[in-house]
Amino acid sequence: MHPHLLHARAAAWALQTALEALEAHAMEAVADALAGDRSGEVSIPSQAYGCRRQLGNHGDPTANAALGAWAPGGPNPDAALLGDLLRQLDQAAQHLPGAPGMDPLTRIRQHIPRMRPHVAAKTTEALTHLNKIARERLFLPPDRTPITGACPGCRARGALYLQTSGPEQEWSVVCGTGCLCAGQGCPCGMPVTEAGVGHIWPAALLMPAGTRTT
Ligand SMILES: [Zn+2]
Ligand SMILES: [Zn+2]
Repeated sequence: MHPHLLHARAAAWALQTALEALEAHAMEAVADALAGDRSGEVSIPSQAYGCRRQLGNHGDPTANAALGAWAPGGPNPDAALLGDLLRQLDQAAQHLPGAPGMDPLTRIRQHIPRMRPHVAAKTTEALTHLNKIARERLFLPPDRTPITGACPGCRARGALYLQTSGPEQEWSVVCGTGCLCAGQGCPCGMPVTEAGVGHIWPAALLMPAGTRTT
């Protein structure tokens, strides 16, 4: 897979994790409101909210509308942010194929293997931006773990990170020094190289059985 596609896939999974955390946070606020004194003051359309299954069905516009409307005293800030991020994802996904009602992030992610590298690079940029907004709200650090060994690209030791968002078979490794691929002849060992792209490896390529996380 082209490194731009690997970056896009990692960005999509990172955002997925962040949105799920944001949704969980918003749900907690609903539970708190229902349990607290304020529950009597304002009606919460928890029916609409409760009908929604977990992330993966945000394509339903009524659910999106409900997200911004239910909280006591005005929109819950986390739910409002989630709705806003989902609307931006809807925009980004509107030209992509996908089953009706499929959530936009899933459509984007499923389309990544067929993206041209420069489109994937733009997608990474957009997803990373949304991910940053969501994680800043939650004080949620990146999903990553340091691993042992030297970077095949720049030889730095202790600089490699395993990116652990999403299913394990789609994890990737990046170098914390921000080293860039030199293109053809680069020592990084990637089957597909492109000069100037930040190094990224599928985890399985760089972490044969026995490699340790630190
Ligand atoms: Zn490196
Ligand atoms: Zn390289």
